[in-house]
Amino acid sequence: MRVLVTGGAGFVGSHLCDALLAQGDSVVCADNLLTGRMANINHLRNDPRFEFREQDVSRPFDFGKVDYVFHLASPASPVDYIEHAIETLRVGSVGTMNCLELAKEYQAKFLLASTSECYGDPLEHPQKETYWGHVNPVGPRSVYDEAKRFAEAATMAYHRHRTVDTRIVRIFNTYGPRLQINDGRVISNFMKQALRGEDLTVYGDGSQTRSFCYVSDEVRGILALAKSDEHGPTNIGNPGEFTILECAKVVLDITASSSNIRFEPLPQDDPRQRRPDISKAKRLLDWEPKIDLQTGLRMSLDYFRSAVQASG
Ligand code: NAD
Ligand code: UDP
Repeated sequence: MRVLVTGGAGFVGSHLCDALLAQGDSVVCADNLLTGRMANINHLRNDPRFEFREQDVSRPFDFGKVDYVFHLASPASPVDYIEHAIETLRVGSVGTMNCLELAKEYQAKFLLASTSECYGDPLEHPQKETYWGHVNPVGPRSVYDEAKRFAEAATMAYHRHRTVDTRIVRIFNTYGPRLQINDGRVISNFMKQALRGEDLTVYGDGSQTRSFCYVSDEVRGILALAKSDEHGPTNIGNPGEFTILECAKVVLDITASSSNIRFEPLPQDDPRQRRPDISKAKRLLDWEPKIDLQTGLRMSLDYFRSAVQASG
């Protein structure tokens, strides 16, 4: 297959490019490098089955026939999507429509990288795919949440009315090597702070929860969904749930750091709790994550050490 990966120079996208090449596909990686980096894909550039195209997918583009479109392009961390608010809305809406049109034209299959943020600050816990969510449509996070909800609606509309063969993955907090250390996400902040001996910044009282999925588990789930016939949204995440304070302690333990914890104000609309119900993925895809937080952080330690060193 010739596969298009938008956002392929990003954290998850670059691991997806690796996995697609490893299973024998050719990959066209389209990325405007807004939050991604060439360093994530430099190791692929001599592979004749890999093409990089610097492209904003919110503008018209066409790189010839493809058999599958994986649409991952979008700022993803709260710091990034609030800084790039308009670009985030645009890539979730116009960018997604461009990718769906391309899939229609080439009769390619299409997979949307959606997010647990579609559930907002969830009143149902854990979150099943059938839950419609609790999203503030005008808050600071809405540029991302509503863009992704629009992207899901567009994907279902192209499936229903344009016969595009679509999939939607709802990704829950994912981490691992190549996570940008300056993207402000909790794992990147805590690892960087712990390795530098700085205070770990816990927002609020740290009792809010997240469920963290190691990137190889996430990509394996995405590929299993891509090969399935399931069109409805599917959660791919690790149900192991941690308070942010517990997460800080795990990071201190794994890094053997003597950093202290400093409490800072909780950002507006920060979800109180988040844990995927993955019974659908287990049943339909025979998928479940294998790597727990402690193991995944240990596996990421060398990467974070060198990223922190490189950042000075
Ligand atoms: P990332 O920021 O590392 O990667 C996103 C990539 O998209 C970057 O390389 C960026 O340059 C590119 N991009 C952004 N706008 C673009 C545009 N208009 N045209 C072309 N490229 C563009 O983030 P990530 O964590 O790898 O996230 C990848 C996808 O997965 C995103 O769609 C995100 O919403 C989704 N997701 C990720 C997580 C997570 O925890 N990592 C959770 C939920 C959903
Ligand atoms: N968080 C924190 N300290 C940090 C960064 C994040 O306490 O330095 C908290 C944040 O308030 C949220 C959780 O960690 O409750 C996860 O934040 P992240 O930005 O990684 O992703 P989110 O799940 O909110 O999109």
